[in-house]
Amino acid sequence: MSNTATFVGMPPFPVAAKKALANSQLRSNIRNATHTIRAKRARVCAELDDFEELRQAAADIKDDMLGNMVRYLEQAEESLTAAGATVHWARDAAEANRIVVDIARSHKVDEVVKVKSMATQEIELNAALEAAGIAAWETDLAELIVQLGNDLPSHILVPAIHRNRSEVREIFMREMGKVGKPAEADLSDEPAELAGAARRHLREKFLRAKVAVSGGNFLVAETGTLVVVESEGNGRMCLTLPEVLISVVGIEKVVPTWTDLEVFLQLLPRSATGERMNPYTSTWTGVTPGDGPQEVHVVLIDNGRTKVLADEVGRQALRCIRCSACMNVCPVYERTGGHAYGSVYPGPIGAILTPMLRGVGVDKQTDSLPFASSLCGACYEVCPVQINIPEVLIHLRGKVVDSHRGGVPGTLQATMTGASWTLGRGGRLALLQTLAGLGGRVLGRGGLIGRLPAPLSRWTDARDLPAPPRESFRHWWTRTDGGRRDTGPHPVTPGQGRGKK
Ligand code: SF4
Repeated sequence: MSNTATFVGMPPFPVAAKKALANSQLRSNIRNATHTIRAKRARVCAELDDFEELRQAAADIKDDMLGNMVRYLEQAEESLTAAGATVHWARDAAEANRIVVDIARSHKVDEVVKVKSMATQEIELNAALEAAGIAAWETDLAELIVQLGNDLPSHILVPAIHRNRSEVREIFMREMGKVGKPAEADLSDEPAELAGAARRHLREKFLRAKVAVSGGNFLVAETGTLVVVESEGNGRMCLTLPEVLISVVGIEKVVPTWTDLEVFLQLLPRSATGERMNPYTSTWTGVTPGDGPQEVHVVLIDNGRTKVLADEVGRQALRCIRCSACMNVCPVYERTGGHAYGSVYPGPIGAILTPMLRGVGVDKQTDSLPFASSLCGACYEVCPVQINIPEVLIHLRGKVVDSHRGGVPGTLQATMTGASWTLGRGGRLALLQTLAGLGGRVLGRGGLIGRLPAPLSRWTDARDLPAPPRESFRHWWTRTDGGRRDTGPHPVTPGQGRGKK
């Protein structure tokens, strides 16, 4: 069994968010988890006097890499090959999946163990392996919970953040026995016991598997060294026990040197889990005779990244080191959870990265993502590589609107065309203001309008609208000569629009 649940066919964000908002258990699980991680992150980041300088250095290193990506990738390929690894290049998800499946088949295996990896989720590798008759076993605890529950991940770092421990216990009790060592009959929902059950369940798979699949947090170009940071040690088991290792890595993961890597190894654990250092930081450089996997493949995937690189505003999203800090502070993510974003990349980074990888104007779900934000800027403040997410969101909103120009105008376009026509002439605006004042008197109660007809009802269904003032500023200015003349109360609306004495 592998996790074949898919985000394909998810509804647009507003529809999915409305459903998620009705789930108070989900909101409570996510609030508790994000607030805990958020507080830990703030504490350990505050310990560093040069935290802002580190952020700047990280952004600069990534920008240098993005500006010279071809050179660094070629250098990485050369280093990897010299170290005994085989490098494969994949244009898209289909090509990457085909490469991994072919390698696994060449070793005649019917299962692989996996290290947690966003890249392999992005290309839906598990489904491709399953279609080829090869089971992919997730070994990260949270990924295991998601896989056993036939669920979808809802957070980059903590994919099962939407589950509480009693739900996890119930999944383990129900599912573990179907695919391997079952959970003990007296398993409680204590975190240590749950982790123990997962460890026992996974151990036989680690010891049996001949092929492992990983991602990579970084790829150091100067030596061809891959780096995986993790908390549980399951990654270390996958990277050392099997005979064959296949690492699927996005082309933006390359960093020029080990000195550059040092900057990220300070920022990533602090921003991700609120730790000074990850419990396990594994590095490997090709093949070491007699030690670890004796056949190492590295699949470098584009899958839309060069398209993102071509976007001058949006390319900063490729600096992302997948720390999740932006989603832990996002007021929208905190209330809707990750599934509403319909992608393996949820939260603020997902709202910009997913539309750029998939392309805007292709489907409603993707086009809804840049609007899934209040633009409060909290994500930008915490991002360790200084991605200006609000700037990219606004840029993408413009692209979404542009992609729908022509044809039958939608509500937004019709509203903007109407606004443009009205604001184009002072007389039209004055007429509208007079009508709005009259309308406000008819519809408003106590200064608020509680209900409007469609399509404006989409606003008043959720909140009251302040009634327009009965006298416009323009009218008041004319009537009182800019406040220099007291003409008494407004003739139509007693008590309003009184000028200065
Ligand atoms: S956008 Fe920044 S804060 Fe969000 S996951 Fe990426 S690196 Fe972390």
